[in-house]
Amino acid sequence: MALTGTCTNRVQNKIITTLQMESYETIQVTSSRINLHLQIQPKTDKPKKQIADFINQPCQRQCGIVYCARRKDTVDLAHELKSANINAVFVHGDLNDLERRKHERAWTIGLAQVICATKSFGMGIDRKDEQFVLDMCFPESIDDYYQGIGRAGRDGLLTLCTLFFKHEDRSFHLHNILKIEDKDYQEHKYNMNKMVKYCDSGSSCHHRCILSYFEEVSPECEEHCDICIGDIQSQKDCTINACQKFSGLSTKSGLSNFGVLSAERHLMHTQFPSKVCLS
Ligand SMILES: [Zn+2]
Repeated sequence: MALTGTCTNRVQNKIITTLQMESYETIQVTSSRINLHLQIQPKTDKPKKQIADFINQPCQRQCGIVYCARRKDTVDLAHELKSANINAVFVHGDLNDLERRKHERAWTIGLAQVICATKSFGMGIDRKDEQFVLDMCFPESIDDYYQGIGRAGRDGLLTLCTLFFKHEDRSFHLHNILKIEDKDYQEHKYNMNKMVKYCDSGSSCHHRCILSYFEEVSPECEEHCDICIGDIQSQKDCTINACQKFSGLSTKSGLSNFGVLSAERHLMHTQFPSKVCLS
């Protein structure tokens, strides 16, 4: 038996070929995670402060993960969060086993509110009640992004997944890719471009975009991404409409203050001048 998480048909076929499986039956279930509220926010020039402010408002006293691109970023961000009265720990590949387990346990049992981690975090960690997953770094691919946020909302409740994005972040990943002599380079680059397109698609439902990438046909989510709740004409209407919609979600999920503050975030999103609407 061969098992895999969310992947494209191409990857699935590659697994079958690699394992030289000649007679097989494929069982595939949906990759949809409708309880994840997908959101993209413009990233400022001070992302650590932006994330501290973000957590201190809509996600106050909730637990979550912030993904960072570099190990140093996890440390610096944890310090920034602590200075903003957010109890945060960090994990990355340079920690020894004792330190890593200590930090992971602090977060798992609730002593720490936030864990700042590189994308390698999560193996063997099974906390089910994360209420937000923030990406401070630009994901290398949609697979990478969906795998990261896949750790959120495993209790089935509404979970906020916010990606902080600016185009300049691509340069960091391009620099790393160019240093690697890898046969899959072109595919990797291609996937990264799809991630940029996902971030720039100001008119397409985020859930439908992701499921389309995994070759799954899906309707728009209607209320679980910032695009679907953003079909509003004026700034005033936007605030009211978003508040109403999120208030409904908040009641279902039990997340306090999620409604009004999410509407504020939504407003920031719609005012972002470089957000491109593709027809
Ligand atoms: Zn949507």
